[in-house]
Formats: sequence, structure tokens, C-alpha cells
Amino acid sequence: MILNRLRVENYRNISFADLSFDSGVNLLFGENAQGKTNALECIYSFARGKSFRSAKDEELVRFGEKGFSSEITFSDREREQTLSYCYYGGERKRLRNGVTLSKQTEMIGHFRAVLFYPEHLQLIKGGPSERRSFLNIAISQCYPAYLKLYGDYSRILENRNCLLKLSQKGLSIDKNELEIWSDALASVAASIWIYRKSYIERLTQFASPLLSDISGKKEALSLSYESDVSGENEKEIREAYRLLFRENLMKEISLGCSLYGIHRDDLNVLINGISARSFASQGQQRSIVLSLKLAEGELSRSLTGEYPVFLFDDVLSELDEYRRSYVLSDPGERQFIVTACEDSGFDLSLVHTTLVSAGSFRKKE
Ligand code: ATP
Ligand code: MG
Repeated sequence: MILNRLRVENYRNISFADLSFDSGVNLLFGENAQGKTNALECIYSFARGKSFRSAKDEELVRFGEKGFSSEITFSDREREQTLSYCYYGGERKRLRNGVTLSKQTEMIGHFRAVLFYPEHLQLIKGGPSERRSFLNIAISQCYPAYLKLYGDYSRILENRNCLLKLSQKGLSIDKNELEIWSDALASVAASIWIYRKSYIERLTQFASPLLSDISGKKEALSLSYESDVSGENEKEIREAYRLLFRENLMKEISLGCSLYGIHRDDLNVLINGISARSFASQGQQRSIVLSLKLAEGELSRSLTGEYPVFLFDDVLSELDEYRRSYVLSDPGERQFIVTACEDSGFDLSLVHTTLVSAGSFRKKE
């Protein structure tokens, strides 16, 4: 998948830009605070359905303006497609190839991208929610049905928690209703569990040889799904959750919330057999996250037939020469859009450079 073009108006500090991209490595190069990350944020919002900085639409509007519009054109082996998003006076308009999309979730799954930005280094040392979020985003790009399941899960969890909280406060609740929510939660949790388990197994097959290569065969990576339940298939997982809910109901009531479910799980990362969260050095963390991001792209290609676009914000400057060239010297069919404040570490004969200054973009010929 190749991003061909980005057009934006009044998005953050960009009053207007019409940018073209090439296959291979594209470098957005400029000093701090010029608009490099803003451009990536806009591109990635078409993959994720929202800003990765979790900004609200109002914050994306260029100061003093009433709205913004953005549009990408991208192509896969079959055709060229357009997605556009416009926010004006509180109204949102989403189009795919000129046809209106009514929901934000309908945007997801068409344009696929892998984002790597400095905060992702927290993926190893941060809490389990960082790793769950990595899994959720990666899986939903390949399987839009996962996103729907996850939305259902959150809604059911909220309802169940609400009943548990009422019961904790001593109010009488309908026990049948609680059981219905518990069963529904077990069912959806089991479907999500299976997606995650299989995604992690397949991701390992790509990530572990990548880390071995990046580290000069020094580091071995293994990934596993850490969960309260285990089983061979969806039915067994569903039954395991049901049992957990039944056995721990009094405990859950006394705490007023759901203590078990896929919202508590984790992705366990081991490097050379020991916990990366506890023991990985800074350099090892960088290498692991880089392998995970590249592996996410490889897996996405094996599941969908196309590489996603790789968006690397500022992270290459933190990698040493060897790892940087590992990524950039042989992009093959992959397209990278990377940002940097310094171009010294790049082989400029291999990259397509765009200079970024005060929200304006100029392609270097
Ligand atoms: P760095 O190299 O430091 O990461 P950058 O080029 O990636 O810099 P951006 O994060 O893209 O910089 O931000 C550029 C500027 O955009 C910032 O100075 C920020 O204040 C400005 N900005 C953010 N939101 C808005 C907005 N809604 N309207 C106008 N300007 C904005
Ligand atoms: Mg930036």
C-alpha cells in the first residue's frame, strides 16, 4: 500500500498543503515545531480513525479558523482510493471514494499504517494497557470485526460494572440481569481472546527473526499472551470466563468492578528468556519495539496481501547507524514516511526529502 498524496487545510499549524509521496523512503525534514508530526498525525488518523495524540477535533483546527479538511489518496495493487475527513462548525463529514461514511469506525481498515513514535518505547517498560492498546490497534487494522467486538465488550463491561457498583452500595439488583451481562461478557471476551492469542503467535514468527537480525544474532525474543484463562478454543475460553465470574462474584461485588476479562490481560515480552519489562536495557527496548513495528507490517501483509505504510516519527534519530540502515537501506515494497530534525544519518541519495518550515512543505528535487 502506498500513500500517494495528502491534502490538508487549516489542520494544526498547516494552513494549506498538497503533498505527494513516493515509494521507498520519504523524509519530512525540518527544525522543531514546524509541522512534521502534525502531517503524520493527519495521515495516521485515516488508519486509526482518530488522532494518535488523542486530540479532540477542535484542537486540530488551526488557531483562529472554524474547521479543517483533510484528504489522502492511496493505492494498493488493485486500485487508487481516496478518504477524506472534514470538520467544520462542529459537523463531521467522512467520505470514501466520494461516498459518505456515517460512522468513524467505517473509516478503519481501508488505509493501513504502522505508526512508531517516541512514546512507543514505553511499550516495553510501561504498564499492560500500553501493550493491550498496541494489540487492539494492530489487530483492528487487519480485522475490522475486532473493532466492533471491542466496542461491544466495552459496552457490556460498563453495564456489568454499573450493576456491581450498585450492589456494592447495598442496593438490590436483579441477579438475572447480572448473569445475562456476565454471560455476554464471557462470550465476547472469548472471541477477543482468540483473536489476540492467534495474532501474538503469528507476530512472534515475524518479530523474533527480525530482532535476531537487528541485534546481530545476540537477542532472542519471545512473546506470549498473559491472561487469567487458557484453553484450546473459543468455547473453552468462554466457559473458563463464566467459571471465573461465578466463583468470584462476591469479591467483584465487594470491590464494585469486574476483576477478570480481556481488559486485564497483557502481552508478555521475553528477551533471552527473561522479562523485557524488568530487565531490558534502553538499546534492547528500542530494538524490540522496532522489531515489533516491522513485524506488525509483515503480519499485516501476510493477512491482507499488502504492506501497510510505515510512519516513523522522530524515532530513527534515536537508533544507531546500524539499526537505521537496517530499516532504510532496503525498503523493498515498503513505503516509509519518516520525520527528523537532522538529515546527517540518512543516505540522501536514497530518500525523497520534503523540507518542512512553519507549516509549509517543499519537496527537494
Ligand atoms: P518536533 O521536531 O519538535 O517534533 P514538529 O515539526 O514535529 O516538531 P509539530 O508537533 O508538528 O512539530 O507541531 C508544530 C507546531 O504546530 C507546534 O508549534 C504547535 O504549537 C503547532 N500547533 C499545534 N496545534 C495547532 C493548532 N490547532 N493551530 C495552530 N498551530 C498548532
Ligand atoms: Mg515532531
